[in-house]
Amino acid sequence: MSKALIDPQGRHITYLRLSLTDRCNLRCFYCLPKGAKGFSTPREWLNFDEIERVVAAFASLGVSRIRLTGGEPLARPDITSLIARIAAIPAIDDLSLSTNATLLAHTARPLKEAGISRINVSLDTLRADRFSTITGGGELQPVLDGLAAAREAGLAPVKINMVAMRGINDDEFADMVRYCGDNNFTLRLIETMPVGSGGQMASEHYLDLNTVRRQLSDTFNMVPGAMPGGGPARYMQVVDSNLKVGFITPISQHFCETCNRVRLSAEGVLYLCLGQEHSVDLRPLLRSGASDEVLQAAIIKALALKPAQHDFNEQPEKIVRFMSKLGG
Ligand code: SAM
Repeated sequence: MSKALIDPQGRHITYLRLSLTDRCNLRCFYCLPKGAKGFSTPREWLNFDEIERVVAAFASLGVSRIRLTGGEPLARPDITSLIARIAAIPAIDDLSLSTNATLLAHTARPLKEAGISRINVSLDTLRADRFSTITGGGELQPVLDGLAAAREAGLAPVKINMVAMRGINDDEFADMVRYCGDNNFTLRLIETMPVGSGGQMASEHYLDLNTVRRQLSDTFNMVPGAMPGGGPARYMQVVDSNLKVGFITPISQHFCETCNRVRLSAEGVLYLCLGQEHSVDLRPLLRSGASDEVLQAAIIKALALKPAQHDFNEQPEKIVRFMSKLGG
């Protein structure tokens, strides 16, 4: 049996995104709108033994990068002990976290000590009233405090993920570029994706980031740049500064041909593509005493289902699950 994860397109899968919960303490309208129902229960989530085992299985198949996500991963109790267990798996050399930073002010240092090296933080606006509107009542200040704590704890790089939305925050891109420059953060702008009812409603605010990049280039002196581990973002470097601005364009210019990732839901369902439903439930194997070999074989077999690309443009109503289930 081949011990590498190569899909039918010949793409080499080295990156696993692990959702720790589908719950979140914010209600960003484009992700998990107010009134969202159908959350899984903690008993359905993989426990830490099961997560460690499944990550070790992926690691034995060549996965070296893990990102913890959600929902809000910091809402999962005792996350630092899980992080320490994943960080101790020798083949995992990059362990990162996506968070809304609302709980980061007190957790940044323990996260770093447990083994998180770098974080991505969602931040769509620097205006408190707008933050509350976008997030369904969230407070901006704890997020800013969390970001300051992350910098002090030495989490680096800190990447700010800003979903670019016409009529919502499209007057704030230059402010966000300056904020990130002042704080030594990397900025990534993201196009809205029609995932779940929130994402589909947000399509009316969709902005083509190629236009935004041209506009920002008029204000800032930017040249094409690169970012190690930068994933699908195309980066621009602001001249005479450390600041990089990434553009993630799943809609206007998708990057499926270089996809190197798969996603595991909190309940242990392996999804082969964010924009398709192809999936395999690994939890029954984990809970029925299957051997490591059987688990590895199931993962390898699942890879055959990985679709060539998403259909966000062709079938924008296809994905009904909320983004918080897999964490982007
Ligand atoms: N709670 C964590 C956080 O805030 O980063 C992790 C989960 S969140 C779903 C991960 C990322 O997905 C965030 O940056 C969020 O802005 C992005 N996201 C959610 N819904 C989206 C959508 N419909 N289109 C584009 N990005 C979306």
